Amino acid sequence: MYNFAGVVEHNAAHHPDQVVLSQGERRLTGHELDERVNALAAGLRDLGVGPGDIVALLLYNHLEFLEAVFALNRLGAAFLPLNYRLSPVEWEFILGHASVVAILTEPEFADALPTQGLKHRILLGERKPGWQSYDDLVTAHHGDRVPLADVGAHDLQRLMYTSGTTSRPKGVPITHHNLLFKNLAHIVEFGLGRDDRTLVCGPLYHVGGLDLPGLGTLHAGGSLHLVRKFDAAEVVDLIERERPTNIWLAPSMMNAILQLPGLRERDTSSLRFIIGGGEKMPVPLVQRIQEAFPTAWFADAYGLTETVAGDTFNDADHVLRKVGSVGRPVQHLRVRIVDEHDAEVPTGQLGEITLAGPKVFSGYWRDEEATTKAIRDGWFHTGDVGRLDEDGYLYVEDRKKDMIVSGGENIATPEVERVLYEHPDVVEAAVVGLPHERWGEVPQAFVVARPGSGLDAVTLVAHCRERLAKFKVPAEIRFVDELPRTPSGKVLKRDLRTANA
Ligand code: ATP
Repeated sequence: MYNFAGVVEHNAAHHPDQVVLSQGERRLTGHELDERVNALAAGLRDLGVGPGDIVALLLYNHLEFLEAVFALNRLGAAFLPLNYRLSPVEWEFILGHASVVAILTEPEFADALPTQGLKHRILLGERKPGWQSYDDLVTAHHGDRVPLADVGAHDLQRLMYTSGTTSRPKGVPITHHNLLFKNLAHIVEFGLGRDDRTLVCGPLYHVGGLDLPGLGTLHAGGSLHLVRKFDAAEVVDLIERERPTNIWLAPSMMNAILQLPGLRERDTSSLRFIIGGGEKMPVPLVQRIQEAFPTAWFADAYGLTETVAGDTFNDADHVLRKVGSVGRPVQHLRVRIVDEHDAEVPTGQLGEITLAGPKVFSGYWRDEEATTKAIRDGWFHTGDVGRLDEDGYLYVEDRKKDMIVSGGENIATPEVERVLYEHPDVVEAAVVGLPHERWGEVPQAFVVARPGSGLDAVTLVAHCRERLAKFKVPAEIRFVDELPRTPSGKVLKRDLRTANA
């Protein structure tokens, strides 16, 4: 029996006065969080929410998001974090696909939300006819206690949907057992404890915001400070004011922070480590991060929704020695690189990255076909191409779907992107395969240039020619104002490809 929500009760009993959650000027101690979680759980129980139910959360990052996570788990129910940038049609698909019974949202989304089929609609922030008020629910049940539900290790803690970078989002059931092993792995990796404080500026609906190390910090007795929505300048202000010891930043967020003027003069010395990941971090960016945050260990990470994120981390001693690597697997996670027949390839050779271990999910939600395709012989096939070196460090080359095949040669798009990033006037770059009559595909680059730099394609092609084999040099360079991205900040290469159609 293991219910993740027990973490709140434990922390409240042992360190009742320690602040565990904060946002803006609000502070919640362990005791206060425990009281509010119990009151909300009582309110939800009275509405009819019970074990096995799934309740959607469609919210920016608010303290109430996490209160709801703990209250639902306390009841033996699960939560489904909905991506607020999706369209109402996409929300409708997910709500139906997951058989959600209730939703908690805020006024900005309430009117657009398709709520047919939902038994309960709860609104944060204001009262509205037809909606149950979150605040009323908590106030009415103040002082109530709800027993911690006995859940089996394999019961659902949450149902998450993937980012949808390559296809329609897929439902990923995450169990209490998966989360326990993920939290333990991160506690071991980073030595998380009560003094740790995570600045959560990635969205809580994504594993990056919620789990890197997020819930792991709370598990270890530390605290989280939430940022409603990522804003580079605000994040740096908060690093100075709130003194977090760690933060997760996707490459696009990191890039936005590195563009801020006067960054080197800011006091970011509280940061013990910065977790990267979510997509390939270009090597020149890693070097810029090291210069801008000299006290912090930059732990580039590799992970997926299907594994509750954070499968490998680059350790402090190897950030520069193993530059370009995402590090070694966390505790109890196994990595195997296989060929197209699922046979393990020799060290150093490229193949598909497969993963196994207790933090890895065991199949997609109501999608037998996708499950059979992804999980074979107990190994989860990630769809990513990579290699392991002789010291066991993982290098992610590309997504299988993004790899370019040009005249029979494979081109890993991040390699070309790295070279583009090495040019001082390149702010962002993404490379995709452009259909070509003779070669099948050729690399095409989309580039955001430093404003006012006057960078042109001829200069950039010459820069690439000096550093890359001829067939890897972009055959076409398009300058754009910004790159299309998923809400979690990943470049949507399929949109770049359709721009060519
Ligand atoms: P979908 O499966 O719906 O297309 P998605 O794959 O973007 O969406 P996520 O679970 O958010 O869904 O992302 C996992 C993917 O992100 C990995 O499979 C990998 O391609 C990429 N990724 C994560 N971290 C890294 C990293 N450090 N380097 C390179 N790629 C990474």
